[in-house]
Amino acid sequence: MRALLLSDYKTLSVVEMPTPEIGDDEALVRVRACGICGSDIHGYDGSTGRRIPPLVMGHEAAGVVERVGRGVTDFTTGDRVSFDSTVSCGTCAFCRRGQINLCDNRTVLGVSCGDYRRHGAFAEYVAVPSRILYKLPDSLPFERAALLEAVSVAVHAVKRHPPMSADAAVVVGAGMIGLLLIQVLRANGNRNIVAVDIDPQKLALAQRMGAIHTLNPNESDVPAAVRDITGGRGADVSFEVVGHPDTVISAIGCLRKGGTVVLVGNLSPRVELPLQAVVSREISVLGSCASSGEIPECIDLLARGVVDVDPIISLKASLDEGPELFARLYGGDPTLMKVIIQP
Ligand SMILES: [Zn+2]
Ligand SMILES: [Zn+2]
Repeated sequence: MRALLLSDYKTLSVVEMPTPEIGDDEALVRVRACGICGSDIHGYDGSTGRRIPPLVMGHEAAGVVERVGRGVTDFTTGDRVSFDSTVSCGTCAFCRRGQINLCDNRTVLGVSCGDYRRHGAFAEYVAVPSRILYKLPDSLPFERAALLEAVSVAVHAVKRHPPMSADAAVVVGAGMIGLLLIQVLRANGNRNIVAVDIDPQKLALAQRMGAIHTLNPNESDVPAAVRDITGGRGADVSFEVVGHPDTVISAIGCLRKGGTVVLVGNLSPRVELPLQAVVSREISVLGSCASSGEIPECIDLLARGVVDVDPIISLKASLDEGPELFARLYGGDPTLMKVIIQP
């Protein structure tokens, strides 16, 4: 099969590789669409240590079942499917509680980090355990389904602390996950949504997707502006999807007393916490990682058009265009949000 191989850091090329063998509980999926994730770009130069070459990256994919292992009964050749990026074991204490994102034996497709190497979906075929597969309705195109993982991150974050419909909710960071979060909040019945970003174009998109107020930290003091919007009180909940020290401070600073911040972004491994504000104002600080079982719900949100990912998809490209697109994304090309590779 043809695959986009990371043979060395920052070195990608399309190569011939053996089609993956499948185990008894696995399916071989013919990949039809696979999104380039921010984590692939961060791994591409070796900075995260989670894309050790040689590796086929890619974990945000959808395609068609080519064949299944002997033990697989609920999927068959020709099924249109997507899958979770996290391969959970299904047997540890966390998996048994349904917290598959916290699985003790968790591996991720398209990742190699020293403990394991699992080739991903920037290839014609990928092998996936059937327990993480989900059937797609015919009405959901593969390229939209490739964003299911991203949608599930947003849905999971809202599940960590679902705001009441009248609550003021601030989304700090209007990149892909932020824009999805805004749509999920809207679907949750929220109307009082504030989007924060330094990029005016992203703020315009945020407004199109349901944000009522938009704030640019380069132009205004975000916590003060949120207090103005909320009659002096502050927001009930904020979602931080950047993971930078300043944006975390801002997400906490705009909350009312007793408010909740859900931390999704984690670019910086450490940030400073405004301890006295968190303690004396009784702020709840929640982490949110990946998703745990929300994919079927996300398939429904996409199929019904409640969440629209089309404005987020910047480009669809072939496997051969992969190396150039990775280089552009790595260089920070501001015109690209989500790039979908169609092997
Ligand atoms: Zn991803
Ligand atoms: Zn497990």
